[in-house]
Amino acid sequence: MIIAIDGPAASGKSTLARALAARLELTFLDTGAMYRAVTLAALQRGLAPSDEGACTALAVGLALGFDAEGRVLIEGEAGEPAIRGAEVTAHVSEVAAHSGVRRALVGAQRTVAAEAVAAGGGVVAEGRDTTSVVFPAADLKIFLLASPAVRAMRRAQEEGRPELTSAYEADLARRDAHDSQRSDSPLLEVEDAVRVDTDTLSAEAVLDHVATLAAVRRPV
Ligand code: C5P
Repeated sequence: MIIAIDGPAASGKSTLARALAARLELTFLDTGAMYRAVTLAALQRGLAPSDEGACTALAVGLALGFDAEGRVLIEGEAGEPAIRGAEVTAHVSEVAAHSGVRRALVGAQRTVAAEAVAAGGGVVAEGRDTTSVVFPAADLKIFLLASPAVRAMRRAQEEGRPELTSAYEADLARRDAHDSQRSDSPLLEVEDAVRVDTDTLSAEAVLDHVATLAAVRRPV
């Protein structure tokens, strides 16, 4: 089974996808972590995030994998927590806009899913283009939404930095605009996705709701 979840930054996709994968015994596929991994590796090598050729060559050659908990490995080394750092977050949307980088990572994402399905399981993938481009034939597609203010507040609370709420809101707005306006695979709500607005729902309520939808769609 393939479940694809898209939505803007900090809408709760990772929390939902991770918990859903655990509940349904599927593989969690965090596609954003892969774009972050390429961005981190580019910065470490002194490559300019605007340099499409260099970033593409890097994405094609970089060995990305996942540990048992679905955390990204870069050349066999843990990518967390470095991939969540401010510098990576500031540059990831620019790197992710390069078509060559996307081609390389989409191929890798489909391979992860094909292997999981061949083993009798499946994936819960989350990102910006998993419902539209990576897995257009997914069994269940979710578009997860929350208002900018709620997303910024949740992110600030998660990090224990309530004073940064308005700075986070500005950063999320900047990334959303970049991700929605790029020409290759922009963030969009596809017609056959189920829209879930999480503003007034707890993480548990969202999980229960989507797990119920998944139970109905699970192929026999
Ligand atoms: O999900 P997360 O916030 O970690 O993603 C980081 C960035 O990676 C996004 O802002 C977006 O620019 C990029 N991304 C993407 N396509 C995906 C997943 C993430 O372009 N499928």
